[in-house]
Amino acid sequence: MSSLRRGILGGTFDPPHLGHLVLASNARHALQLDEVWFIPTGDPYRKAGRAISSREERLRLVEAAIAELPWARVSTIELDRDGPTYTTDTLRELAGEGGDWWFILGSDALGDLPHWREPATIVAQVRLALAWRPGSGELEIPQETLRAVPGIESRIDEVEMPLLEISSTDLRERVRDGRPTDFLLTPAVRAVIDELGLYASS
Ligand code: ATP
Ligand code: MG
Repeated sequence: MSSLRRGILGGTFDPPHLGHLVLASNARHALQLDEVWFIPTGDPYRKAGRAISSREERLRLVEAAIAELPWARVSTIELDRDGPTYTTDTLRELAGEGGDWWFILGSDALGDLPHWREPATIVAQVRLALAWRPGSGELEIPQETLRAVPGIESRIDEVEMPLLEISSTDLRERVRDGRPTDFLLTPAVRAVIDELGLYASS
């Protein structure tokens, strides 16, 4: 049985940016994780209605983002699954790997958790590694989340990181408008965006 401590960072990653990398790095430090697995969402049903880059494109972007990080890897477990992507399915599959797992997330995702499939099961499956993100309210667990998952406080480990007002939404607009993306995402990610011609219109 594995004794590794591992974190899962799920996201649409359209595109991955410094917010994701700083989050992963600080979660790794706070919880002494051996590995962080970046898991791009296959079909992000919570973002239905907006255009999303293809699975292949987002995989290329994540591979570029983490190429230099020996402790990070990408898993296609959600890209390979058909239908809407449910985190609880992913966690059930990964439990077979053994070891200890944390699900790493920003505070906006914690607020959205009540709308995910089986939030109480998710929180029973893994501990949460939570970082605060600007624009998602006070630095406390939202009431709706507390109501949806009673006792969730005891399943959360807080991750310290600087508040970074960086989002994929803003970066897509920057690319579209020809404004700088320097230092907000890595040069390797920007090269893939340009190669694939992503976000030219959105
Ligand atoms: P979009 O604007 O398209 O929603 P995003 O920037 O929110 O993209 P996601 O892929 O939706 O990125 O986020 C994946 C995970 O990373 C979520 O748990 C989210 O809270 C977290 N995250 C993203 N950006 C930051 C940030 N700047 N600080 C802390 N956490 C972040
Ligand atoms: Mg988001």
